[in-house]
Amino acid sequence: MEKILLKYTDVPEQYRIETYIKDDGYTALKKALKMAPAELVEEVKKSGLRGRGGAGFPTGLKWSFLPKGSVKPVYLVCNADEGEPGTFKDRYLMEKDPHLFIEGTIISSYAINAKQAFIYVRGEFVLSANRLEEAIKEAMKAGYAGKNILGSGYDLEITVHRGAGAYICGEETSLLESLEGKRGYPRLKPPFPAVVGAFKSPTIINNVETIAAVPWIVLNGGEAYAKIGTEKSKGTKLFSISGKVNKPGVYEVDLGYPMGKFIEEYAGGIKDGKKLKAVIPGGSSTPVLKASEIEGVVLDYESIAKAGSMLGSGAIIVFDETDCMVKAISVLADFYAHESCGQCTPCREGTPWMARIIRNILTGKGKESDPDLLLEICDNILGKTVCPLGDAAAMPVDSFVKKYRDEFEYHIKQGKCNLG
Ligand code: SF4
Repeated sequence: MEKILLKYTDVPEQYRIETYIKDDGYTALKKALKMAPAELVEEVKKSGLRGRGGAGFPTGLKWSFLPKGSVKPVYLVCNADEGEPGTFKDRYLMEKDPHLFIEGTIISSYAINAKQAFIYVRGEFVLSANRLEEAIKEAMKAGYAGKNILGSGYDLEITVHRGAGAYICGEETSLLESLEGKRGYPRLKPPFPAVVGAFKSPTIINNVETIAAVPWIVLNGGEAYAKIGTEKSKGTKLFSISGKVNKPGVYEVDLGYPMGKFIEEYAGGIKDGKKLKAVIPGGSSTPVLKASEIEGVVLDYESIAKAGSMLGSGAIIVFDETDCMVKAISVLADFYAHESCGQCTPCREGTPWMARIIRNILTGKGKESDPDLLLEICDNILGKTVCPLGDAAAMPVDSFVKKYRDEFEYHIKQGKCNLG
């Protein structure tokens, strides 16, 4: 299995431009600058690359949504906010191999005719932001960014913008609001950012991992990328795995890799020889899957959806047989209640309400009617909010209550956990 994104992340000082260029760094940019922007868009379309931030939208198609002949400037905004609990693969990439991402940023900007790229980095990612700023300086000094890149006549300014650590600013429209210096409130869509984005101009927003795949696609061709993975889920994908496994970390596999094998072989299996109980497959906002539900599931968008959850950001959180699912969902419910921006009623009122009910159940003050009440609140949030945070908060609660109702009921009846 060829690595595309993590090939050089273990090389000492890979974040320095001297190290990066030793292994063909910036050769994709040289090739790209000899191509027409439209050819690059075509190549990315052919690759089948889908957004790695969570939604999985086809990248080339997104690029082609930009209005033709716009008199306004076009912007590329890289979403490096990565706030989804359990997700730490973009941070890993930015810290270890920032030039790969910067090279992808320059090529992607050229492909969409952007003269300005913004990288919106989560405020807590201090090392990532420092490494990116350093990498941009090195790239400018070497002529790969800035004015007249490699004598091509193409200019690009790249700005690193540090966020202040709000989960909601990972949602693309609130990210734009925050980038513009305003409170991170999600916008109503349409219009979509490709038409009205940053500073009311056409804007493409892509995730770090997505952009980092672009240099390989340019060097090897979209068709070569499309040969990796499954019929509808092309290429490789980074998975950050955490929880009760022996080797938590970030790993790259071809899409379509069996989930059970991934947990055993890459993450070293379940800690202390215990049994696997459940998995959250795509970041904390995705529905939980019981151990029995992941049998035969492979790591791609379709297989995980068929099992009843989502590939999301590729953040796998593993639970073993000793984990209390009421306690686990209580932590997540508190998180989403805290992160709700408060703009729309179902999310503003529903998320703290759910968090309170679950905390009551956990502390022996639950009522028999609580599980049904939680499901009803979820039903009143799902699909009824301005942005996906509402769904992100309701989907895990809904799935935990439905799949582990016995644990909720034990807590309510006995006032304690059945797991000791
Ligand atoms: Fe804000 Fe929640 Fe509504 Fe999103 S769903 S706009 S986070 S209140």
